[in-house]
Amino acid sequence: MKILMVASEAAPFAKTGGLADVLGSLPGALIKQGAEVRVIMPKYGTISSKLRESIVHKCVIYVGVGWRNLYCGIEEAVCNGVTYYFIDNEFYFNRDGLYGFGDDGERFAFFCRAVLEAIPHLDFTPDILHCHDWQAGMVPVLLEAHYRQLELYRPIKTVFTIHNLRYQGICGIDQMKEWFSLSDDYFTEDKLEFFHSASFMKGGLTYSHLLSTVSHSYAEEIKYPFYGEQLDGLLNARSKELWGIVNGIDYEEFNPAKDPLIYQTYTKTKLAGKDANKVALQEELGLAVDEKIPVIGLISRLVDQKGLDLIACVLDEILAEEVQFVVLGTGDGKYEHMFWEATRRYPGKVSANLRFDNTLAHKIYAASDLFLMPSLFEPCGLGQLISLRYGTLPIVRETGGLKDTVISYNEATGEGNGFSFANYNAHDMLYTIRRATGICRKKTLRNKLRKAAMSCDFSWQSSAGKYMELYHTLVPEAVE
Ligand code: ADP
Repeated sequence: MKILMVASEAAPFAKTGGLADVLGSLPGALIKQGAEVRVIMPKYGTISSKLRESIVHKCVIYVGVGWRNLYCGIEEAVCNGVTYYFIDNEFYFNRDGLYGFGDDGERFAFFCRAVLEAIPHLDFTPDILHCHDWQAGMVPVLLEAHYRQLELYRPIKTVFTIHNLRYQGICGIDQMKEWFSLSDDYFTEDKLEFFHSASFMKGGLTYSHLLSTVSHSYAEEIKYPFYGEQLDGLLNARSKELWGIVNGIDYEEFNPAKDPLIYQTYTKTKLAGKDANKVALQEELGLAVDEKIPVIGLISRLVDQKGLDLIACVLDEILAEEVQFVVLGTGDGKYEHMFWEATRRYPGKVSANLRFDNTLAHKIYAASDLFLMPSLFEPCGLGQLISLRYGTLPIVRETGGLKDTVISYNEATGEGNGFSFANYNAHDMLYTIRRATGICRKKTLRNKLRKAAMSCDFSWQSSAGKYMELYHTLVPEAVE
């Protein structure tokens, strides 16, 4: 079974969120199950110089985008036993970030075209092209439109995974026609047309053989208008082909027993190290040093999806409690300002770290008592999975993957691995935070819950098995 994953980011090369974590860890898990998996992604200017050294040049091809023929280097690196291919074009990808340059549609149009043109040059003809999110969404469309009649491409099947339905790659119809050399026929309501524009995401959803998303609950939710981002009709129509497979995390990278990035390692039977992490973090971030104060961590893109409006409503009420709040994230100015401003009003109580910082992220996961993730919607969410691994109890809203992975502590039965609330309501969240901090002050109960959290298994093993099942429905004859 040969799989080529197509994505716009993959850890450790380039990461803005959970998509990169998945592309950095799922391929390895599938290889363990016997599949041959490779990844193809853009070669960004932000890839660290150390990782760049491992990338070798393979060849140069020219890729047509509209009337232009553009340079496209194909490069390759092996990382943790997985082969990564890179699409190199300095103009499109040698920039100081991944997205948000105003020409992202054109950049990823080039990427999608380059992926299909690159296949004959890879020494690897996939049985399945597994495309992730809108940036790869036009690959299945192009395959049908321009390549299907060619021998090499004829048997290739396609899978499209939605990591976040909100970001769709919506562009003008005329631009899309030109970039992809597609006729008017493709721009009807049942194909690429989307409210007088056209959508990469809709292309992936319409033209792929099978669809998946990253949790069961999100797979159900997106069939309704509230979560469906105006694609609920299409998702309902394709519901038989839509799978929900929950993400895992890399249990090697996120391992409190071995993590070199945290202050002190610990295990579920030797939890004292976790409190030492808290004290060290309080010192590093200039918070009041006190092991007994519950620390709430929040590591996130700072966008409305993550439930930050709920926090804005009751921030002062949260901070009226004896708690500390450690934030790590970047995003919308209004949320960055809200947290920055809170550090001024609550010195020693709030720490706002408005940047992307992997090392600090590990330290916060290890040091916090609680991890706040009150998302408006959450396809899967990795923050809560990483928290559970570090014995940091998640406080989540019951939506998408959060609902599927966090079980709210039940005082009657003693079951649970965190805390949750159902409605998108700030005071429901506040009540849940108060309940959680109250429990954190009871050391025996807190340690019992930490152990329960650390005993959960969200490694890739079982989910990788589900992906294998999905691939086999498309290529039943493939052997591992
Ligand atoms: P999303 O993909 O919607 O951003 P996820 O919870 O699925 O959310 O994944 C987010 C990933 O990015 C996690 O690994 C989280 O730790 C990481 N992350 C988010 N913001 C930062 C940041 N500012 N610094 C370091 N890591 C971050």
